[in-house]
Amino acid sequence: MATNNSKGKVLMIYTGGTIGMLPKEKGNSLSPLVPANWEKLKKFAPVLEEIPLDTELHEMDLIDSSDMHPDYWVDIARVIRDNYEKFDGFVILHGTDTMTYTATALSFLLENLDKPVIVTGSQLSIGTPRSDALQNLVTSLTLAAPKSFNLPLIPEVCICFNNVILRGNRARKVSSSGYSGFDTPNYPSLGKAGEHIDINTKVIRKPSTKGFFINESLEKNVMLFDIFPGISPEILNSVFSIDGLKGVVFRTYGAGNAPTNEDFLKEIEKAVNKKNLALVNITQCNQGMVEMGLYDASATLSKLGVISGVDMTPEAALVKMMFLLGLGYDIETVKDQMQKDLRGEQSVDVFNFVYENGKADKLYKAPAKQLPAGFDKERIVSTNIRIDEAALPKEVKQAEIELAVFMNYPSADENTDTSISQCLGVLKGTYNEEPVNLILGCTERFRQVVTPGRPIQITIVAKNEHAVRWDGAFISVYTSVE
Ligand code: ASP
Repeated sequence: MATNNSKGKVLMIYTGGTIGMLPKEKGNSLSPLVPANWEKLKKFAPVLEEIPLDTELHEMDLIDSSDMHPDYWVDIARVIRDNYEKFDGFVILHGTDTMTYTATALSFLLENLDKPVIVTGSQLSIGTPRSDALQNLVTSLTLAAPKSFNLPLIPEVCICFNNVILRGNRARKVSSSGYSGFDTPNYPSLGKAGEHIDINTKVIRKPSTKGFFINESLEKNVMLFDIFPGISPEILNSVFSIDGLKGVVFRTYGAGNAPTNEDFLKEIEKAVNKKNLALVNITQCNQGMVEMGLYDASATLSKLGVISGVDMTPEAALVKMMFLLGLGYDIETVKDQMQKDLRGEQSVDVFNFVYENGKADKLYKAPAKQLPAGFDKERIVSTNIRIDEAALPKEVKQAEIELAVFMNYPSADENTDTSISQCLGVLKGTYNEEPVNLILGCTERFRQVVTPGRPIQITIVAKNEHAVRWDGAFISVYTSVE
């Protein structure tokens, strides 16, 4: 490998994990593994003396990473802060079990990062002949001082394991014993380490120029759970009633679907409206994302105020919630920010424009809404309009509902032609004495009409015979992140 003359400086932060474990009883290889001090381990890594780097060690409380904890994440962040100026990069030696949580947490705690933070470990202890530890460690040290090895800088918290370099907050542990223990199923790898190290510069984040600092507070009163067929309202009720609970991430089926029975939905509704919890919906699938409204089985969740965690990993959704609540935001801001990419942890930003009505209208003109700062129409990937609980007057037993939605065309009325480009579309449904939920994709029309710097103004016109009452109208815009 080509090296550069100036010696890079790397701080190695050792937290424990298999990489540094030895049998608890000396001489008994069958006794359980516990982390050992680096002093006892360095004889297994003479190669570290050969690497042309100035490496310093910071040994933390050594733990099996099953004991990892938010306070410990803050401690690691503080060590990095206290040494930030002195080093080119940081390598964190960590157990594999909770490595993805730690990498994710650091990605949020370390603000305006412009140096590499590489988290690594191994499946076999460094003292075992077939161990993967040395390769992982040496590659990580190399990545932490990229200038010394003429490599591109990765100013991110990443996981380096076996032959891949992965964005930490996208990573999952995919094997409990294989050397290829980690993957980012919803994001390309940042690089590959074989005979050469190849960095995929197109997908790495830019170094920040805003000045590094750390966040030091994480809210622990959050919860992550899976729904499953037969989950009872009592279980939901007791979870949502936990004293002090602030937010819940729950993993649903497929594209964000959950049971539609009244008891289940009642508990969700109570959690959002009465208990004021932030509820975030992510998928149990490894790949793909939540698209609430695609099926009826998710449209109601969205109507009840559950928010989409799009394609975040469980680790990312949970820790991001700890982070946002820890910043002291109110629940509405937490919900809004959960839907925006902050550290490359999700593939799209979600913008919601919400209108409430509740009375029967033939013509509804919504107040104009400001386009959020940073909104870029070129990045729109999908837009849909949803109108909840549309209903006709009591005397009507059955009839068609047709609601035309116009944007930035305040003079729109019953006679306006729906083929003009300012018409986002016509939502249709059959009313049968029961309110109906209507949804329509309008990506192209929205993109054509939305104008940077101009607020958006919506007019909803009933094209059917009667006035239509509806509860809420929502325009959800998904934009890709850079
Ligand atoms: N239990 C260990 C840990 O996470 C497993 C490992 O490191 O592979 O600390």
